[in-house]
Amino acid sequence: MNLIFLGAPGAGKGTLAARLSKEYGIPQISTGDIFRAAVKQGSELGRKVQGIMEKGELVPDSLTVELVEERLAQADAQNGYILDGFPRTIAQADALASFQKIDMAINFNTSDEVVIRRLSGRRVCRSCGAIYHVENMPPKFEGKCDKCGGELYTRDDDTIESIKNRLRVYKDQTEPLIEYYRGKGLLRDIDSSTSPEESFSQIKSLLLVGFFGLGE
Ligand code: AMP
Repeated sequence: MNLIFLGAPGAGKGTLAARLSKEYGIPQISTGDIFRAAVKQGSELGRKVQGIMEKGELVPDSLTVELVEERLAQADAQNGYILDGFPRTIAQADALASFQKIDMAINFNTSDEVVIRRLSGRRVCRSCGAIYHVENMPPKFEGKCDKCGGELYTRDDDTIESIKNRLRVYKDQTEPLIEYYRGKGLLRDIDSSTSPEESFSQIKSLLLVGFFGLGE
């Protein structure tokens, strides 16, 4: 089950990829998480991408593709995976097609208003990466992760200025992937403007139909 989660920043890809990963035992591969970990470590990759990420621009395709190719060669990705935040350009999608067979691309539909509200209230655990929202999905204790007790923080690119730029970049460079995967017969749509529970059940229905031949 080789899946791609497509959608604007804040559409819910990360939250749902984490849930699905747990349910089906396949890894969530988030290029954003990999880059953030590199920034945190202060590695050479981290130094290269930090400024790009803060502004909400895209990391160059060649660098991103190389990283994903290496990650997908690892043992845990041999029985399926969820690509969360990759590909983000047609060039990345073409490169991916040259070394992987994708089964389904799930497109998360939301409005700009929902995205801006979600991202500006998003908090992330510094230790385990769990995602919260100050209003919609608050932690039990303010500033503390329910799962591991880690400190919750606001991502450097979740400022209004960077959010607006990320939405612009998404529309220019990533949205064309919707038609790209539709043309290959791989695209499935969900409405991700409501709750994670509702999105989760839509995704599970798509997978039951697509992989287990149920429901149609
Ligand atoms: P995300 O966590 O998916 O919102 O990604 C955070 C940031 O990491 C993006 O705004 C980009 O700067 C960078 N990034 C993540 N994935 C990619 C990708 N596939 N291609 C280029 N840049 C990426």
